[in-house]
Amino acid sequence: AELDKHMDARWTGAPLVEGKRLSGDARAVMCPYELSHQVGEVIWATAEQTHNAIDSLAAAFPAWNATPVDTRAAILERTADLLEKHMPELMAICTREAGKSLQDGIDEVREAVDFCRYYAVQARQRFALITLPGPTGESNELYLQGRGVFACISPWNFPLAIFLGQVSAALVTGNTVVAKPAEQTSLLAVRCVELMYEAGLPGNVLALLPGDGKQVGSVITSDPRITGVAFTGSTQTAHVINRALAARDSAIAPMVAETGGQNAMLVDSTALPEQVVKDVVHSAFTSAGQRCSALRVLFIQEDIAPRVMELLKGAMAELHVGNPFERSTDVGPVIDEDARGNLLKHIETLKAQDRLIGETPLPASLNGHFVTPTAFRLDSISQLDKEHFGPVLHVVTWRNNTLDKMIDEINATGFGLTLGIHSRNEDTALHIDRRVRIGNVYINRNQIGAVVGVQPFGGMGLSGTGPKAGGPHYLLRFVTERTR
Ligand code: ADP
Repeated sequence: AELDKHMDARWTGAPLVEGKRLSGDARAVMCPYELSHQVGEVIWATAEQTHNAIDSLAAAFPAWNATPVDTRAAILERTADLLEKHMPELMAICTREAGKSLQDGIDEVREAVDFCRYYAVQARQRFALITLPGPTGESNELYLQGRGVFACISPWNFPLAIFLGQVSAALVTGNTVVAKPAEQTSLLAVRCVELMYEAGLPGNVLALLPGDGKQVGSVITSDPRITGVAFTGSTQTAHVINRALAARDSAIAPMVAETGGQNAMLVDSTALPEQVVKDVVHSAFTSAGQRCSALRVLFIQEDIAPRVMELLKGAMAELHVGNPFERSTDVGPVIDEDARGNLLKHIETLKAQDRLIGETPLPASLNGHFVTPTAFRLDSISQLDKEHFGPVLHVVTWRNNTLDKMIDEINATGFGLTLGIHSRNEDTALHIDRRVRIGNVYINRNQIGAVVGVQPFGGMGLSGTGPKAGGPHYLLRFVTERTR
């Protein structure tokens, strides 16, 4: 009932600087699955507001950096408690603004909570002073410090978890933070930052600047006072940000980037077709295929390919596309009309080439950015020119004795985010694991989900810079080491 109440609420968002809302022109936020429903409105930050916010964050850095790590960690823990308390409201914004399912909304809040609690524990451990052996008579110490003003630039597909994962890591390590949420999901970020202030975060250490990526984003990344960037989004934007940072004559700023993928699953003929198809459907179509880890290209060994295709076709016919707020829905909308248009173009091209394996029927009553889950036959992963971020699966049949060629082709994409392996031959699984350049490998299971916080997530090559969100080493990306 509480969730229902929130589903019809209207939220208003604005830039948050020094703990206060700034004014400006508001723009409407519309729901991706009930196109006439207005979720709320949000004010986008101007270049001047962005510049002033960074002034204030630079001034606040020394005091925040000198604040005991325990104080900073305790704020994250109180934030986690508040996220749990406000779970129904956060789930409602997540569904209304991003079109995510109720289950996704629960997972999203849980993941954000886990990040806060895990980084709080990690920070306390990591910031303990280390005594170093030094020349006779000297006492030497090693300790960690924040880097300065950290920029956190986040995507819409995990509008709370990734947003807060970046922000909490940067803050707990002593940085002040300028955060730029994705255009599509500012309201959830605004609500999250308000809860952080309520948890005791000083207003002057975190500024939230909703706005256009190219405009606000480039004002942030070209500012000489930015000393690091955490970014999750497209590979193309990561390159743009890298160039903007490099063009400055100021601090050499590191980037922590988690970008795109061309995620594959390799299945050999020892695998169980029923389990494969269950895991494939989950990996490719959950969250309408809009997860960084989602499966894009399934490789099946030829002996079992006909059976797997038949089962896949049947399973796809039974998926239910619809309103993400309904429990019976398996696949909700994609984020916006641009995303839908691009996916439909890709689907049309492959249909015209007569490559269709199966698709899910789309109910006529839907009024939103829906894309029907679709699976296509491909000859090679190299036929894909880019990542298609939605519920579209591609299937390649691999002939006996060509496993290494398939692995080479996966490596040749340059991406290296997730890979699934289905095989009951342990040597084959380990052989594949050793040869791929991939951040997260999933064996005999679906390839989404991890124990969040504790397990690192992220890729290499075109997929990102490694040490990744979560895991015991993530916080080290946000600090400088000092000795005295
Ligand atoms: P997606 O394809 O997932 O929308 P983007 O890379 O376009 O990914 O967006 C991810 C985040 O990067 C968003 O918050 C977006 O506003 C921001 N962004 C886009 N362009 C730039 C840019 N030139 N500089 C900084 N941030 C940007």
